[in-house]
Amino acid sequence: MGGSRARRIARSMASTRYRCTGCGNLTRFDVAISRRTREYHHFTVGGDLEVEAVEVVEETVESVECRWCRATGDRIEVLDAGDDAAGAA
Ligand SMILES: [Zn+2]
Repeated sequence: MGGSRARRIARSMASTRYRCTGCGNLTRFDVAISRRTREYHHFTVGGDLEVEAVEVVEETVESVECRWCRATGDRIEVLDAGDDAAGAA
């Protein structure tokens, strides 16, 4: 169970891509994300913590800024991974 939750997070992070309309940058962005998570914290008797599962309850992208030209807001285009295939056809 824990493993599948971890994978869900990774996929959601990978599915959003950005393009800077100012300079054409596709690869480097500063992304500020506000994320609320529920985590399963498993402590050993000795007090060491192992986080066994992380579930994203809520996720909001606060801002995206281009690392190259510092463009923000409307100048950053959000690309959906799903739209990518449709656009290429
Ligand atoms: Zn840019």
